[in-house]
Formats: sequence, structure tokens, C-alpha cells
Amino acid sequence: MTSQLFIDGARLYRSLAALGELGAFTDPHSGLRGVCRLALTAEDGAGRRHVVEQMREAGLTVRVDRIGNVFGRRAGLDDRLRPVMLGSHIDSVATAGRFDGCLGVLGGLEVVRTLNDAGRATLRPLVVAFFTDEEGARFGTDMLGSAVATGRIALEDAHALRDRNGLSVRDELAAIGFLGDDPPRLPAPFAYLECHVEQGPVLRAAGLDLGVVAGVQGICWHELTIVGKAAHAGTTPMALRADAGVAASRINLALRDLVASGRFGAEFRATMGVLLPHPGLVNVVPGEVTATVDLRNPDSALLDAAEAAIIAFYAEAARMEGVTVTHRRTARTPYVGFDAELGRRIAAAADARGLSHAGIVSGAGHDAQELARLCPAAMIFVPGEHDGISHNPRELSTERQCADGVNVLLDVACALADAPATPEDQP
Ligand SMILES: [Zn+2]
Repeated sequence: MTSQLFIDGARLYRSLAALGELGAFTDPHSGLRGVCRLALTAEDGAGRRHVVEQMREAGLTVRVDRIGNVFGRRAGLDDRLRPVMLGSHIDSVATAGRFDGCLGVLGGLEVVRTLNDAGRATLRPLVVAFFTDEEGARFGTDMLGSAVATGRIALEDAHALRDRNGLSVRDELAAIGFLGDDPPRLPAPFAYLECHVEQGPVLRAAGLDLGVVAGVQGICWHELTIVGKAAHAGTTPMALRADAGVAASRINLALRDLVASGRFGAEFRATMGVLLPHPGLVNVVPGEVTATVDLRNPDSALLDAAEAAIIAFYAEAARMEGVTVTHRRTARTPYVGFDAELGRRIAAAADARGLSHAGIVSGAGHDAQELARLCPAAMIFVPGEHDGISHNPRELSTERQCADGVNVLLDVACALADAPATPEDQP
């Protein structure tokens, strides 16, 4: 039993602040500093170069693959063994804080620095990784880099994605100098660990130090086009209307009814986040509405059932209002469960440090759910202040909260990195 190491929480927090200055802006409403590092922009390029520089200073050998994923490797005592990978992302949405994704990457780097300072070698290599365009905020596909690395999305398809201005992933990777040479398919690591902010209120409200993430809930998105008949609000009798706005409202309320029915479990969530009437004028019955439906459930079968129920209601709403409702499914991911043994290790490491914890299901998507197809994967959640608000300049986890998560990351990473060779570790 080696003595317990501690990461340098102040150093970790400084590194989060330094990366947070790249692509920083001042929010005009709150005066807070926010971050805008959309994938493959000049700001993302600056963030990437900054982290690569830090990786090299920590002695890591840096490689970049053809979708721009970056891997910094610390050699193991037996360097032929599969590595333990610690990762996340550094791209952001347009109105981000400085913790989302960055905590997992800079936390991985802090683990390496701590081992370096202690002169501690590991049997297996350690790799600190950041994946391209996790947010999907610019090119429309989230977890893009990790999905290519694990084979869910073909490299050519990823390269061909374009942003609103017609710029392609491939050209933008080249423009910022991150169109790498490494093959896009990642050889399976021994294990993958990701420390991330919760991005929700649960841990903080429960007074817990950490969350042991059991998995990522299933997600289903629809884009709705509801077509009725635009008409004058004053002259058109109520009985003669085909009001697309009322149909959208009925669907929105039906989502609430589905949740309230309890038929789809206690964790079922449903949201109409877009509800745009056309022409959108005070005295015109809306002739058309564009709307979206977002369904989430940790149980894939219940998610399927909820989707079927709301599709049936689209027809009902159409009939009631004399409109047409067409839907297009724009996203569908099943529940992804993380490795139970890694979850037990995370919980045990938290116990050993006297940190309180509970199991939690992630409400948002993460790179770890892609890596879970390749190797045992797990996530550690750190609580956030301000109800865990994220994708917002108010996003905040304290130095202590971040350090707790990364100390547990260190413990679990070290134990895994000293695991002896298995038959899958082919020399
Ligand atoms: Zn994230």
C-alpha cells in the first residue's frame, strides 16, 4: 500500500482560470466572465495549443488523430500495456463557463503533475485526452470526436459536416492546425475515466461531495412542423380556424400529462424547447408552427413507449385543430450504463477520503458514453453552485469541489494503471 497522494487544488483551479481566459467574454447582463470556444474556431485553436503546451511541460508525448482528438501520453513501466485514459473536451457552447469539459482534461493533467511531483511511476501508460466538438454547438453533432474515435461515426462523414457558414470540419481542423496524422479509430484503452461538473442541482441540493455516475439517460428529439391556416384574428369565426399555435400548445401540455401519468417512470422528462409561430403577429391566427420535443429517460424501453405515446398524440392534436403535424426525429440515443466495477472503485475511493457520494444518472451526453463502447468507462460528477447551472457564465464549482473530484480521479486512475497485464494486453 503506497501512501495517499493529494492533487494541488490551487494549481488545478489556476489552470481552469487560465484556460477560461481563452475565448473569454464579459456577459453584458451579469458582468461575469464567460467562455465562447466553439469547436475548431480560432479560440478553440488557442485553447488547444495552450493545453498541448501544458501537456508537453508535464512530460507527455502528444499525438493528434485525423478528427483532431488530442492524446497526451505518460509512459508506463510496461509501455506495451493498454493505457488508462483520462479525458473530456475543451470546446464550449457560445455562452459557457470555464468548468464544463475542462475539469476532466485539466484534472487529468493535474493527476499527471501530481504523479510527476511524487516521482510515482505506473505500470500502465496514462493518457490525458480531449475530444473534438463534444458540444455539437457549431457542426450540429455532439460527441463528434469521440464518436469517430470509437467507430460510431465514419471519419469521412464527420469531415464533411458543415457549420452555418458552409465551413467544413475538415477545412476548419486544417485551419487551426489540428488535422492530425493518427488513424481515427482509437485502440481500446484499459479503462476510461471522466471527471465532469454535474450541470444540474441534485448533488449540491443533497449536500453531497461527489456523484458516481451510473450512466447517461436516453434522449429522443423531434422537430415538429405544424401547418394550419393563417387567418385574421378579428374576422375569422372560431369554428372555422385551423390554428397551428393551439395544436402546438396541446402537444406541449400533453407532454406534461405524459409525465404526470407516471406510466414512463419517475425519471421521465419531456420538454418543448422551441415553439415558433409564423407569422408571429398579434392579430394573425398562426398558420404554421415550428416546435421541438425533447424526451429523456434512463430506461430505454420507457423512452420508446413515451415516444410512441406522443407520436399518437400528434395525430390527435392534428384532428382536434384541423391541422397537419409532421415530425422528424433529429436525435435518438439509448441509455448507456457505465462499468459497475469502476463505479464501485470510485465510491470506495471517495469513502477512503471521507467524501460523501451517491449514484446519479447523467442528464446530459458526454464523451464517456462513446468510450463505453470501447472499454470499461466511468464518470465522477462534481457538484455546482447556483443550482448547478451550466452552459452559462454563472457555472461555478469551487476549488474544493473540483479538488475532491480530481483526488478521486487520481486514486482510481493510479489503481487501474497498476493493474497487471491481462490476455487482452497483447504485446
Ligand atoms: Zn461537457
